[in-house]
Amino acid sequence: MSAVRLHGVRVPHMKNTAGRKPERMGVPTVVTIPMSMHIGAPAEPVVKPGDKVMVGQLIAKDAGPVSSPVYSSVSGVVKKIDDMLMSNGKFMKAITIESDGKQDIWDQLKVPEINSFENFIAAVKDSGVVGLGGAGFPTAVKLDIKDLSRIETIIVNGAECEPYVTSDTRTMLDDAEYVWEGIKLLQRYLQAKRIVIAIENNKPDCIRTFQNMCSGNNGIEVAIMPSIYPQGGEKVLIYNVLKKIVPEGKLPIDVGAIVINCTTVAAIARYVKTGMPLIEKCITVDGSAVREPKNVIAPIGTPVSDVFEFCGGFKEEPKKILYGGPMMGIALPSLEYPIMKNNNAILAFGQKEALTPEPTACIRCGTCIESCPLRLMPTEFAEAYEAGDAERLGKLKVNLCMECGCCSYACPAKRPLVQTNRLAKSFLAAHIAEKKAQAEKDSREGANSR
Ligand code: SF4
Ligand code: SF4
Repeated sequence: MSAVRLHGVRVPHMKNTAGRKPERMGVPTVVTIPMSMHIGAPAEPVVKPGDKVMVGQLIAKDAGPVSSPVYSSVSGVVKKIDDMLMSNGKFMKAITIESDGKQDIWDQLKVPEINSFENFIAAVKDSGVVGLGGAGFPTAVKLDIKDLSRIETIIVNGAECEPYVTSDTRTMLDDAEYVWEGIKLLQRYLQAKRIVIAIENNKPDCIRTFQNMCSGNNGIEVAIMPSIYPQGGEKVLIYNVLKKIVPEGKLPIDVGAIVINCTTVAAIARYVKTGMPLIEKCITVDGSAVREPKNVIAPIGTPVSDVFEFCGGFKEEPKKILYGGPMMGIALPSLEYPIMKNNNAILAFGQKEALTPEPTACIRCGTCIESCPLRLMPTEFAEAYEAGDAERLGKLKVNLCMECGCCSYACPAKRPLVQTNRLAKSFLAAHIAEKKAQAEKDSREGANSR
């Protein structure tokens, strides 16, 4: 039998916190809750400064077909609603609430009544749940498939492949019942014929837990995946589980698949059982600068400084702070950023790990192409971008790049390939928008001259 070549990279797992049950931190004095913790239109505030709010109360409604409502994570008083600079460099409206420390629960919370696909989707929307593995896509939109016969397989993503991050692992161990109840809801209301719980082979406890739950349950199975990065990437997982390729510009459902993160599934089940929407998040806190790495359950909107403080503070000055894991995480310029719905980790690194190696010239070794899970050509992207050749970038399918960072990680010359890919994608998007605007202008002028 020929050996199967796995694409991606083997990264050090560093799952230091996998054995630690999450600890719930105290109520912060202030939370700052952004209106966009999801892909799509930002939510619209329904409260104003001076309003008293309670835990689980709606503070911002979803604003469009792709959006998600936002709920208060504390009881207290709305202090202000203003723009905050987000980690992506854009300004976003955020609601700041001063906590009264009482954590009074909103008296209008109720368990949703579900007896059809339509009111299941409505409940998922009302839960405020978005892709909790980091993507942040509104889950109700993902699951609202008009023709259910298109769904062949639902993949529950338990392949937590980023180094350090263990919050999904803890959900699979500590909230296994919620994950399971969520899976049964998907099976029932999406009429899923086959559900595969994909877990990497470096999580034997999780595999055992779900294999036991699956025994005797038709249509639900565990797939044991090699622990290679980025196993948890949506397209990678679909290929590795189903041997199907999602074409450029298409969605997983176009190949009969839905991929949903295991913590997202648990959050849906929790809302269906308790009526409490998404107001808190389990996050991994780790990195060489953190005194006591652990998993923490924090109210959404808690400043990351409070979370680090809960972990004993820093043992050395942090030089690099990340939302998320080291491969795909986003650098934070300050400790005042809040915990958001789609955060699964905050990492802080000292001087040694924060150093960026000096890139040297490309030696044309091809390692970046070999390492790319999608077999893209980062060296060609870089050349086309530097030449300002948008047409070529389109032909090279730069938009397929999921920014997983494998190419940069594997490059012996330490070239900043993933950063160039991001710039190249933005450049191509601007070029396409410009062409579209020009075509519309030409067509208007043509119509006026007739
Ligand atoms: S080209 Fe994109 S998808 Fe391929 S390894 Fe690099 S970052 Fe990942
Ligand atoms: S891995 Fe680095 S050095 Fe090798 S071809 Fe790619 S960019 Fe060049």
